[in-house]
Order: sequence, then structure tokens, then C-alpha cells
Amino acid sequence: MSKEFDLQYSIIPSNPEAHIFTVSLTINNPDPSGQKLRMPAWIPGSYMIRDFARTIITLSACSGERTLNTTKLDKSTWQVEACDTSLTIQYEVYAWDLSVRSAHLDTTHGFFNGTSVFMEVIGQADKSCLVEILPPEGENYKKWKVATSMSQLDAELHNFGTYYANDYDELVDHPVELGNFTLATFYVADTPHDIVLTGKHNADMKRLCDDLEKICRTHINMFGELPKMERYVFLVMVVGDGYGGLEHRSSTALLCSRNDLPLTNQQEISEEYRTFLGLCSHEYFHTWNVKRIKPEAYLPYDLSQETYTRQLWAFEGITSYYDDLGLVRSGVISRESYLELLGQTMTRVYRGEGRLKQSAAESSFDTWTKFYKQDESAPNNIVSYYTKGALIALALDLAIRQATSHQSSLDTVMQRLWQEHGKPMIGVPEAHIEQMSSEIAGIDLSNFFQRYLYNTDDIPFDELMGQVGIQWQLQPTTNLDDKGGKFIDDIDKTLTWIGARIANESTGAKLVHVLDNGPAQKAGLAAGDIIIAINNIRTSKQNIDKLLAPYSINDRLLIHAFRRDELMQFELTLEKAPLSTCAMKLQESPDESQLHALNNWLKR
Ligand code: ZN
Repeated sequence: MSKEFDLQYSIIPSNPEAHIFTVSLTINNPDPSGQKLRMPAWIPGSYMIRDFARTIITLSACSGERTLNTTKLDKSTWQVEACDTSLTIQYEVYAWDLSVRSAHLDTTHGFFNGTSVFMEVIGQADKSCLVEILPPEGENYKKWKVATSMSQLDAELHNFGTYYANDYDELVDHPVELGNFTLATFYVADTPHDIVLTGKHNADMKRLCDDLEKICRTHINMFGELPKMERYVFLVMVVGDGYGGLEHRSSTALLCSRNDLPLTNQQEISEEYRTFLGLCSHEYFHTWNVKRIKPEAYLPYDLSQETYTRQLWAFEGITSYYDDLGLVRSGVISRESYLELLGQTMTRVYRGEGRLKQSAAESSFDTWTKFYKQDESAPNNIVSYYTKGALIALALDLAIRQATSHQSSLDTVMQRLWQEHGKPMIGVPEAHIEQMSSEIAGIDLSNFFQRYLYNTDDIPFDELMGQVGIQWQLQPTTNLDDKGGKFIDDIDKTLTWIGARIANESTGAKLVHVLDNGPAQKAGLAAGDIIIAINNIRTSKQNIDKLLAPYSINDRLLIHAFRRDELMQFELTLEKAPLSTCAMKLQESPDESQLHALNNWLKR
């Protein structure tokens, strides 16, 4: 092995049947007073303490022939006996978490994030790392390949061998997929972009490449350049039912459902495929926003404990705004389709009273204990910095456009953030984006941020969307599957609601969330209750809309429901459905200035 690397990691799927990776780490110049090593407590992009050390099974250390003692100092830290020559530690990692945040290994494939498998050598986080990725032993694994954005040293492209990272931060920011996956490559900005699909699927790879290329190009054009990288990799795990994504500096790990992917000869864009492209667009936008343009508090990351910022509304919210906007700007979806998506995002915010109790800035700060630890009270008590942040971004974009007669926009803010912070890797101080937005708008926006970011005021979308020739309205929810976004011209003023979100349960209709001040809450029903009958008729999620349809506002219903194993009886008075579903449509005859504004906004 090369001597020029201070740290040499080696990882092998040593026992795929038992889901075990074996990792060895050689430290050329260990701390002479006893080297400390630590596993991260969290992975960047997913703000929850996960204590990855809990999946370390056995650990040993040696220096040449000599075995060294190791001591655990706390939940994540080990200390090796003092030694003045190079030392090697070896440990086993249990990998059975099929998510984008951790590691997974079986006889069909392996996946790992560095944060789940590579220990940090304390005091040497800035040292260069050689990474040897070895294949599992046995005939069954002969066809396995490697997909990662990590830099190759001796390894051939998509093969086992040696890779390297310049420091620990880089080492843990290139997830790795091992297996017999489907691979396609397209080029944008002279840079290869791989799409890697693991799992059973029948996806049209050409269609995927064509659509992703347009989306990537749109984001690159907005920022002016793709950050320097050898290649970008979309690592996709395809399952029957799943959804998730995590951003990295030159790749993203995604989890999707088989039905999300386009089939050969499928012309239209299904709602599921649109969602998948939105997810890809989101993670790709993060290549700039959060992976390079970062909150000051994340430079460097402290992976041993929670790290606080009030800026996730910008790093996740602005990204959530541009993900769907990127789809329409790239021409992958129509304007009508975009307005539907935007209406759905708004609906997710407006359907929760939590938006009136927690600000987007508070939601960012408390992500560790609230957004990432949601319970049944979430819609009542918290707001998402993703969705509310996206709405703040939209309002900010339209406000800057109006103040500057469309000379500047949120695009201008992002371009400046890239030039002044992302490219030179200078952290973004708290509240800096607000000041920069005011400068670019040429007007003082502090009142805007005070109201919509630090307080819980609803944003005046009727007025804002009117500027770009779009009619915005709040309408009642029509049925349990109504996600919003579909404009209703003649609103039915007699629609009722019970004030709960419902999931299917074999024995009845389960209340997942009971909304504040709604009829279900007033009747005494609680989250977790399973409604089995309404007015003595058996009830399920499938028939509840139909069962309730004949009843009117103020009608009283007899509800039978189980709470745990106890059958209970409730009297529920139906109420008028609130106006909490958002929808938009293009105005029929917009004037010249509205049309100009609309074109300027959606089509660059
Ligand atoms: Zn994100």
C-alpha cells in the first residue's frame, strides 16, 4: 500500500449472509499517548442523533505482532493502548438498515455511508485517507461492481480496488454501492453523471437519462457552473414501496418505489415519476445549496453532537422551492403541472395549525428534537422547514422580482451565495441570507423575514401570485385523498369534515392525526383510535368518505371506536370543512406585465 497516505482504510463485505462488513484501519502516526477513535453520532443532511457506534460488533487493535488493549471512553469513542509505531485496528459493522442514511448488506448488494463504517482518527481528521474496497469472497459475487463518486486511485471505473479521500469529511461524503446494478451514464457540463439502479425494476434508462440531463442542466445554468468534480452519481435503491434521499458533494443516495420509475414506451409523466424527478432535482440542487453553500455552524461539521442553526428554512426550504421549479424550467413538466405541485406544497403547510405555533426559524433550530422526532401531534404543533421554507422562498423570489422590476430574483441571491460562500467554502452566518436579499432587492426586507420566518404570519399568496397572473385560492378538502393543487371553480360550501387524518387498518379506520379544534377532537377521539362503525355501519378508510357523504353540517354521528383494546362510544357533530386546501390556476386574460412576470419567473 502507498506510503503517502496517513490513514489506510480497508472495507470488505466479509459476511453478506450475516450482514457484516469488516473494516481495518492502519494509522501510520498514532497519538503516542494512546490513539482515540470515534464513530459519528449523526450523518450530515439528516439531523438526528443516530449513534452509529451501536452497530460496531467487535473491535481489536494491534501493532505488528503485538495486540494492543482498547478501552471504550463513551458511547462513540475508543482509546487504543499507547504505541509509538503504526497501528491497525479492525472491527466488524452490522449493516441491516435499508435507508439512505446508514449501511445495508445482504447476498444481493451492499451499500454504505462512510459515517456508518469509517471511524474518525481523533486529531487526524485533516489527514489523507486511502480506501481499499474489497469484493466479497465466493462465486456468487463475481459480477459485483462498485458505484461511488469517491476518487479512484488504482481501482478501475466501477470496480473494486483502491480509492482515496483528502480528509475525513470527504471520506464520509461518498456513499458506496456494491452489487450487480443497472448503470447508465449521461454528460452535463463535460462531467459524467451515472444513474445506478439496484433492485428489481423495468425502468426506461434512456428516458431517465434524458429527463435528468435537462434538470441537471437547468440547475447548472442557474448557478453558472457545476462545482468541480470528477463525476456525479445518482445511487438509487429500488424497492416495492419506499421514498427517501440524502445529498452528498458529488452524489446522492435515493430510495424509490418501483412504480416511480418510467417504463419503456411510457409517454406521459405519471404523478409518481414526477415525484421521483422532483426528488432527484432536490438532491442535485443540494450539490450547491448545503454541500458547498453551508451554514457557518457546519464548517466543519461536529458529528459528535447536535449542531444548531436557524437557517434550515434556506438550506432545505429554498432547495425544496427549486426542486419542482427546476422541473418546469427544464421543460420536463408543464406550467399547469407545476402549479399543481406548488398547490400541494402549500396545502401541506395550510392543513396544520402547527404553522401558527412554530416559526420556520424555530423549526430549523429544533429539528433534532421536533421535525426528526415527529409524533401524532406534528400537524397541530410544528411546521416543516421544508414546506414552509419553500413558501418563504417563493414569496421572497416574487418580492425581489417585484422590487427590481424583474432585474433580480432569488436566482440572483443564490448566484451570489455560490460566488461568495459556496465556491470559496466560507460559511454563511446566521441571518446573512436575509441581509443579502434586502441588498439585492434594494428595499429593506426585515419586516418580511420578521413576519414569515421568525413569526407565523400566513403569506399573502393571493396578492403575490396575482402579480404573475395566477389565481390563488383556499378551498375545502374534497375527500381523504385530496392532496390539494387542483383548482375548483365552484366550491361546494356544504362539504363537511371530521378533523382527522386516517390510515387503513384491518379492523377499521385508524386516526393517525386528530386535528386541533376539529370535530373528532371535540368528540373526544384521539390519535391511535380505530373507528369501527359510524351510525352502526361498519367503517374502513375505503368507505368513510362515502359513509359520511349523506350527512350535513351539524348532523350528529354515533361513533364506535377502539382505544387500545377498549371499545368506546363517541358523539361527533359534523362541521363545515375548513378552507385549508390550496390551488392555483393561470388567469384567463392576464395583462402584459403579468405575462412578462410569469415568463420571466418560470422560463428563464
Ligand atoms: Zn434536502
